[in-house]
Amino acid sequence: MHRKPVIAANWKLNLSPTDAKAFLQRFLAQVPKLNERTLVFFPSAITLTTVIDGLRERPEIWVGVQNVHSEAQGAFTGENSVLMARDVGARVVLVGHSERRHVFGETDEMTTRKMSLIVQGRLTPLLCVGETLEEREAGRTAEVVERQLTAGLAELDAGQIAQILLAYEPVWAIGTGRTATPADASEIHGVLRQALVSRIGEKAAAGVPILYGGSVNRGNASQLLAASDVDGLLVGGASLDPDSWASIVRA
Ligand code: PEP
Repeated sequence: MHRKPVIAANWKLNLSPTDAKAFLQRFLAQVPKLNERTLVFFPSAITLTTVIDGLRERPEIWVGVQNVHSEAQGAFTGENSVLMARDVGARVVLVGHSERRHVFGETDEMTTRKMSLIVQGRLTPLLCVGETLEEREAGRTAEVVERQLTAGLAELDAGQIAQILLAYEPVWAIGTGRTATPADASEIHGVLRQALVSRIGEKAAAGVPILYGGSVNRGNASQLLAASDVDGLLVGGASLDPDSWASIVRA
């Protein structure tokens, strides 16, 4: 099955609304409509509506949020909800990013809950899984990513699983300048694909895009994208500069 590559920019805690306007002006001038790719921006919650407004003329580009709370609403000061994200026009939600897991202590149970709320709220989750360096060196990569995947999918039915986006993001490669080789990425993407096949069957599993993330840049993007079972890229640092991001999305 053909999977249209998904190329996503995770801006993390960078780019204010003012910065985002300047970014989009420069980026959009360089990148006409790309029919063969799906582009996604994940700005901060404060910059979200500026990016959505800036892309009104480019509805083929998706915008998502970097996080949502694991409860639908209530006394959770500082948090954002699925329904609020949908209300302003977000389509995708990052779940289980390594910084959420390792900096903010997000547990597998929280990713289970968030995934369920997101699909019920009719947004698309982009579930991130990945091992730490210690886990990799102990030969536990497959076990860790399968455990994280199992938690993320625990409350979803087969039809819902078929609609998710998935990203393999080795923790040791995020923001470090160390990238998995295309062969390493293919191997773990293959493990994830098989885990999907066992849940929803070969045909539906073949339609789930599995992105690679971890120190992608304009020099390595095309090689990673060409690797088997790599269906897109999730990019942090190199997505903050409009020129670098424009060359990655065309890689
Ligand atoms: C990320 O934040 O998802 C990421 C992959 O970051 P970087 O590209 O900076 O490693």
